[in-house]
Amino acid sequence: MIIRVWCERDRCLGSAFLSGHEPQRPCPGCGDPLKITLPPTGETLDACWNCGCPNLYVEKAFPQVLGCGVIVVSAGLAIAFAQKTWGLSFLGIIVLDFVLYFLIPMRTVCYKCCAEYTGAPKNDRQKGYDLLIAGKYADTDDVGGPAGH
Ligand SMILES: [Zn+2]
Ligand SMILES: [Zn+2]
Repeated sequence: MIIRVWCERDRCLGSAFLSGHEPQRPCPGCGDPLKITLPPTGETLDACWNCGCPNLYVEKAFPQVLGCGVIVVSAGLAIAFAQKTWGLSFLGIIVLDFVLYFLIPMRTVCYKCCAEYTGAPKNDRQKGYDLLIAGKYADTDDVGGPAGH
């Protein structure tokens, strides 16, 4: 399992790839030590190894730019060849996208510190990204509510 941990220093965008064999590394941006704590149960992921947060979500480890590019290009090809293939090109593209989707590995991400876990063991408690849960971890200090009670 490879864990990408983000630096917590203000305005530092550094991150480091850590693992059970190499649980600590300096931040490439500011030099702060980035480290994870392995759970006593071994390589299980019931809570974040970086911040201990129990809420994590799973997503496709697919660069979004690439994902959009594939869809745009494949849709363009399908339209270009639709007349020659009597629309069969659409079917081909759908199959291609489907295959691509299943080839892409999953990764697990912490709601609180955004640490990314690639190759994590499957955990049925971890579902897709949920805005409601994410909202609990979002910064709320700038929300302007009615002042005073
Ligand atoms: Zn840093
Ligand atoms: Zn975390």
